[in-house]
Amino acid sequence: MNSALLTDPFGRRLSYLRLSVTDLCNYRCSYCLPDGYQGKAKPDELSLSEIETLVSVFAAAGTRKIRVTGGEATLRRDLADIIAVCKAQPGIEHLALTTNAFKLVKLFPAYRAAGLDKLNISIDSFNADTFFEITGKREYHNIIRAIDGILASGFSSVKINTLLLGRYADRTVPDAMRFVRERPVTLRFIELMQTGNNLGYFQQQHLSATAIEAELAAQGWQLLPREAYAGPAREYRHPDFAGSIGFIAPYSKDFCNSCNRLRVSAQGNMHLCLFGGIAYNLRPYLAQGDREGLRQYLFSVIADKPEHHFLHQKNVGLIRDLSMIGG
Ligand code: SAM
Repeated sequence: MNSALLTDPFGRRLSYLRLSVTDLCNYRCSYCLPDGYQGKAKPDELSLSEIETLVSVFAAAGTRKIRVTGGEATLRRDLADIIAVCKAQPGIEHLALTTNAFKLVKLFPAYRAAGLDKLNISIDSFNADTFFEITGKREYHNIIRAIDGILASGFSSVKINTLLLGRYADRTVPDAMRFVRERPVTLRFIELMQTGNNLGYFQQQHLSATAIEAELAAQGWQLLPREAYAGPAREYRHPDFAGSIGFIAPYSKDFCNSCNRLRVSAQGNMHLCLFGGIAYNLRPYLAQGDREGLRQYLFSVIADKPEHHFLHQKNVGLIRDLSMIGG
């Protein structure tokens, strides 16, 4: 196969694929799916062999990190097989999963054995009642048990995603800091993003990370250098804390400068930008196992990758909510 590497017109090497494997989700997060996922798992999710075709072509074109996401990816019964197929591709150095963790007590060992080496777990509150209020699920204690078990097993690459929500931040920020005092995890506060379905919620709850970041710096937290293949998070460490704290601020200046990612939905639609206006249909190539056709198509459309999103203009592209593509 041709050895060219995917690079966009702005010179950004696209080495990171975020692959959604299902739209289905069991949570009812107030900013994403407040009424819950409607319906059953669609029969149109990419099959394991379509995923193998996809990731083999992406890996040959320079993908080095794959994040499996959803919906809630752990609702797919063949998730361990998906992880194994992704990790087996030559060139793939990191295999990550973003999950709400409700199944991890039981399933983490199988995912780990399949090749999972990075885990991102979403926890929007460290208070069980507030957690229920935000997600509609009484899973808080189960999730903390899962995380502590995973850390005790010696797996150290755990990140926590915590949305910054105006209504809860006064309590969530200090609770999150207590959480990382003894646990060697990286907790990233994520600024709420507007999507097609959450405008009212966004206007009420969006909170900029700037003031919290300044407060941390004032308390002696030190900004870390950015790791290879890392996302746009700014991460801080403090000598008194086992874990670190990061910030993902999509509305900040230059957020997209280091963008190295491509996204593919559970139906095989590629999004060149999370908030882009075009879904590129890869399915015909995947269904036929046409690797050379897919490779040529990828290289032909990569020139369309926008330099940055248009969230400041309230343009959210095709995204109704993040369960469609996984964030
Ligand atoms: N079900 C998985 C989970 O809970 O992590 C993966 C899918 S979820 C859509 C991925 C991440 O996107 C979660 O951390 C979630 O909090 C975040 N997210 C969802 N909607 C968002 C929004 N409007 N703005 C910012 N982050 C959002």
